[in-house]
Order: sequence, then structure tokens, then C-alpha cells
Amino acid sequence: MTDKAPITQDVLTIPRKIPEGGKINLVGLTRDALRETLIAHGTPEKQAKMRAGQIWQWIYQWGVRDFAEMTNLAKAYRAELEEHFVVAVPEVVSKQVSTDGTRKYLVRIAGGHEVEVVYIPETDRGTLCISSQVGCTLTCSFCHTGTQKLVRNLTAGEIVGQVMVARDDLNEWPVPGAPKDETRLLSNIVLMGMGEPLYNFENVRDAMKIAMDPEGIQLSRRRITLSTSGVVPEIHRTAAEIGCMLAVSFHATTDEVRDGLVPINKKWNIEALLDALREYPKVSNSERITFEYVMLDGINDSDDDARRLVKLIEGIPAKINLIPFNEWPGAPYKRSSNNRIRAFADIIYKAGYASPIRTPRGEDIMAACGQLKSATERARKSRAEIAAQAGLG
Ligand code: SAH
Ligand code: SF4
Repeated sequence: MTDKAPITQDVLTIPRKIPEGGKINLVGLTRDALRETLIAHGTPEKQAKMRAGQIWQWIYQWGVRDFAEMTNLAKAYRAELEEHFVVAVPEVVSKQVSTDGTRKYLVRIAGGHEVEVVYIPETDRGTLCISSQVGCTLTCSFCHTGTQKLVRNLTAGEIVGQVMVARDDLNEWPVPGAPKDETRLLSNIVLMGMGEPLYNFENVRDAMKIAMDPEGIQLSRRRITLSTSGVVPEIHRTAAEIGCMLAVSFHATTDEVRDGLVPINKKWNIEALLDALREYPKVSNSERITFEYVMLDGINDSDDDARRLVKLIEGIPAKINLIPFNEWPGAPYKRSSNNRIRAFADIIYKAGYASPIRTPRGEDIMAACGQLKSATERARKSRAEIAAQAGLG
């Protein structure tokens, strides 16, 4: 039993316009919302579009937080902005750096909540794994975040703010007038941190639109991957309104096993999920879907599973990302052996699909997939609760 709400979307989101000492935070407002907010606070309607564009560039292209530095705006106007608004991003409480270069940031958001953000440097890219909720309403039995009781949706500002604080730390804001730097340290975003992004759709969408905007952070939609546990009704909207790459936490090849691993499967089963996934590439015009598959010893890792998986996804342009299970204190599973994972990968590969095995990154700082859980949220389910949910109790 869990005292968390069942599979539900009804978690608290604080208002998008976060008052910071009575001031409105401009970070996270869409372009239209920014313009309207300026008008509501005295910017003449005729000028508002241009002013919004200028402020947008200062915030998202140059990383400026102080209105005084927005030098193409009149001094008096800057003072007015200062009076009503702030440009605020989450506060970095701590930063840990793994022996493999992975960085984990603990950031504090309004209400004193904390979420984790992970930066993973690779030779050809740098990926930022961001969170969409504090905790998660879902309770996947292998996931550390799922054991966290407290849940709140992040605002759009808090979501794109994670990207901005990482750019601060990587010292990656361009200097006005300098030549464009093509080799970006932060080149990709994955929504694979804490939370179920599709249970916080509007905020995730607005934040990703900001990250993709050509006059700002400028990440192409192909460099953003949203991972969902399978919120079927929101998958079409993700394709139509965000258009980013999609990853799905598949993890099992029968409803019986998936029900025990990813409880949302009881609401939308494998068949319903696959139907939605078949539509995704057409609507979003993206090449292929990533199927994430966590390798759990003796649970979902047999040759039969691999063969069933290949059959199930037939006709869907796909890549299967095998994730060796990352252990956490009290976890009711073990990681499949390397040989088992390789044999599983081989069957999938021979069927014509890419089947990379995800190398765990930042394990020494508990930054690997599914290990995130803010230390401040001490309340957690007991081992018995976790085991019962996994069908092992
Ligand atoms: N809520 C979303 C995104 C966050 S989880 C989702 O579930 O898709 C990102 C990925 O990490 C998911 O595929 C998730 O199933 C996987 N994951 C969770 N716990 C894990 C663990 N302990 N070891 C390995 N992968 C894990
Ligand atoms: Fe939530 Fe994803 Fe973890 Fe499941 S795997 S509990 S959906 S964060």
C-alpha cells in the first residue's frame, strides 16, 4: 500500500508567475505571455512586442539576470522593469562532480523544494538531464524517485531554469559581439530526471519551447528527448505541440510484468501505448522512438522477452536503449549480468534495431538513471511497501 495518490495528474503547480518578493519572475513566460505581462505593467502596447523581444534576448541568448545590464533599453525603462520584475532561476544548493566528469546539481525552487539536475559530458555531446516534478506521482517499483512521497509540478521557469543554471556553471553564455561558438558543452536535453513530464504537460511544453527558440538557447527539437512512462493521452499532444524526440519507459513485454514495474500500465496497457507510439513519428516528423528497457535480473531479461519485444514494436521506427538497473538503498531488484544484457541486445540487434547498452554515469554520486531523489525529502516508503508494490511482498 502507498499513501500517495493513485495514478493522477492532480498535483499542485504553483502559479506560473512566481512572485519573488512581490515581483514577477519573467523566466518561463512564453513570448506572448511576456508581452502581455509587460503591457499589464505599463509598457505601451505598440512597443511591447519589440521590448519583449529585446528582453527575451538578454535573458535567453546572453544569460543576463540584471535589468541594469540590458543596455539597449532606456535607463528609465530598465528602472521600471526592476520595480516589477525579476529574472530568477533556481538556486544551486550543491554540486557534485563524479570521477567520470558527470555533474549533479541539487537546486532549490520556491517552497524550499529541491530537485536534481545531471550534466553528462560525452565526446560528441553534452547532455543535461532535467527534472519536471519534485518526486513523481507514479510509483514504478524499480525507481528511486518513485519512492519519494512529496510531489509538486515544476513551473516552466523552474524547468528551463535548470538549463540556465547549468549554462551558468559551464560558463557557456556567449559574450555579446564574440564569434559564435559551435562546440557547445550543453548540446542536448533529456527530460529523464525526476517526475513524469507528461503529467506536467503545459509547463514542460512552454519550457521546451523556450529552450528551442532561435533567439535564445537555440537547441533543436531533435536534441531534446522527453521520456514518458506511457501517459497515452498526452503522447499525441507531445508530437503536435512540442515535436521533440520521444523515449518511452517500456521495460516489459507482457502486461502482467509491466503492471508490476510501471503501474501506469494498468491504466494504459502495452497495446494502447503502442498504438499511440505508432502515430508519434508521423505527427512530430521525427525519425524514431527510443524504447528504454531497464534490465532486471530474472524479471524481464530472458531471450523470450527480447523476442517478444521485437515482435511488439514491429513497424515502429525504433532504437532500444538497454539500461542496466542502477541500484539504490532498499531496491527490490538486481541488475542483470553483463552476459545476459549482451545476449538480450544481440537478439534485438539481429532483428534490425540499434540496441545500445546505456553506460551508467555518475554512479559514485548517485546521479545515474533512477537514482535521483532529493535528500531533503526524507519521507519515503518502507522496504515492505516497495516490495509489495513490486509484487514481491
Ligand atoms: N518519468 C519518466 C522520466 C524519468 S525516468 C519515465 O519514467 O520515463 C528516466 C528513465 O530512467 C526511465 O526510463 C526510467 O524507467 C529509468 N529508471 C528509473 N529507475 C531506474 C533505475 N533504478 N535504474 C535504471 N533506470 C531507471
Ligand atoms: Fe516516475 Fe519515471 Fe520513476 Fe516511474 S520511472 S516513478 S514515471 S520518474
